[in-house]
Amino acid sequence: MTPELESHLKSLVNLPSPPGVATHIIELAQDPEIEMGRVARAVGLDPALTTKILRIANSAIYAQRRRSENLRQALVVLGLNATLTLALSFTLVRSLKSGAPNALDYNHYWRRALLAGTAARSLGETTGQTLSEELFLAGLLQDIGMIALDRSKSDVYAGTAEMQRVHSQILPHERKRLGVDHAEVGSWLMRQWNLPERLWRAVESSHKVDTRRALTPEDGFARCVALSGPIADTYLGPAEARAKALNELAQQAERIFGMRREAFGALIERISSLIPETEAVFETSILPEPEAIMEQARELLMVRNLHTLREVNTLRVTADSLSARAMELEAETRRDPLTGVFNRSFLEQYLTREFDAAARQGWPLSVAFCDLDHFKKVNDTHGHQAGDRILQATARLLKGNTRDSDVVARYGGEEFVMVLPNADAHTCQSVCERIVASLAGTHHDVGHGSICVTISIGFATQSIDSPFDSVDALLKAADQALYTAKLSGRSRAVRYDAAESAPMVRFR
Ligand code: GH3
Ligand code: MG
Ligand code: MG
Repeated sequence: MTPELESHLKSLVNLPSPPGVATHIIELAQDPEIEMGRVARAVGLDPALTTKILRIANSAIYAQRRRSENLRQALVVLGLNATLTLALSFTLVRSLKSGAPNALDYNHYWRRALLAGTAARSLGETTGQTLSEELFLAGLLQDIGMIALDRSKSDVYAGTAEMQRVHSQILPHERKRLGVDHAEVGSWLMRQWNLPERLWRAVESSHKVDTRRALTPEDGFARCVALSGPIADTYLGPAEARAKALNELAQQAERIFGMRREAFGALIERISSLIPETEAVFETSILPEPEAIMEQARELLMVRNLHTLREVNTLRVTADSLSARAMELEAETRRDPLTGVFNRSFLEQYLTREFDAAARQGWPLSVAFCDLDHFKKVNDTHGHQAGDRILQATARLLKGNTRDSDVVARYGGEEFVMVLPNADAHTCQSVCERIVASLAGTHHDVGHGSICVTISIGFATQSIDSPFDSVDALLKAADQALYTAKLSGRSRAVRYDAAESAPMVRFR
């Protein structure tokens, strides 16, 4: 502070001196050797102050601690420093409130001051500041310069009733009128009163917070005070503007303290819950319905939660679609591209699994080899494309005549293999016969008319009565039966008969 500014301030402000009790308390607070007895005596001289200290010690603010019956116990609960600071808050508010205002809106001023004090204290709790009572006092006194200016210059706030409700507008008004603002005045005044440096420094910077610097404990203290004002303004501002204001404050708190939105919502709830107690102790009505803003704080949290839920949902949907795609890709590697039924490589894996399971559990397992009859001639006569369509139709027919739990695969060319788990020879026989008959009765469009194509099927069934050594043996048996079906006139289903089996040359 320059000497010019200092003399300017002196010329501006009739120094309101703190009341006797406050002065005494300030003196006590400056004594590092202070003991409890002296503080108790000093505070005890003022019965109203004693009542308030007791009340605070037993309030929600210190809820978790033991109940205090007398000043000494309260001093133990609160601690010496906190008690002195609280006593100072009470006495200063009492003396400052007693003077008559000029154009300053006292009602609004004190509501804002008490809210800011409460907010600064709660911010301190949330951000790990230990000096709760000092934060309360700093928040409470941050605009004390306005009282000093109002008392010294009766017209400084004349015609500013609206402006006083929007704190950011009152500062440029003061600077324009007086060349200083109330933060400078207040800070200077607090220094004259010998209040601790931390306090007047925080008041000095209460409208400007440098968030670029790293957070030191002193910065943390000042930043709590700086944010407490806008929080108070949000409470006192129009209800319809609150949601937006709370959101902006939450962002500010995140910038200044790295505070998460949830923590900010909880902070607003905490401040709201402390309002009735503060009103009672300072005998000032602050807010008719603190519950309303508590609701809004909860909504703020809810919005966040919903937001989080939405994020989680989006992630889940993404994960789902990715795994669906992975399954599709996997499915693609298992499928025959022309007919859509499983391919040979999948069939082989699957058959190995099913064969082992069936052998272990004693379940029957049937395997059928299906081969279109004279298919080469179909291609030669009607073209490869017509042949492809017939292959597709055949695959559909095989699928349509088997259960979902059965597997149809294209083995190669015009050959398909069906695996029917849990189907005995009898069941498999009827499935195969149904397929043979069904295909024989199907007309295939080949452009210039339609044709019928037949199929031959050979099948073998693995069961307890007729076990096979391996998958290969089972497949070979079905293949042999197919050979028999071809030899015996085609368009039929033939069951493998072990008795008839003989080594033979594969016909295809
Ligand atoms: P058989 O009754 O003895 O089985 O006689 P076939 O003509 O069906 O048997 P062969 O094995 O001699 O001929 C199979 C034919 O199947 C040869 C080829 O023209 C046809 N073919 C194989 N793969 C495809 C395909 O992907 N598309 C088409 N359109 N035809 C195919
Ligand atoms: Mg064939
Ligand atoms: Mg063939």
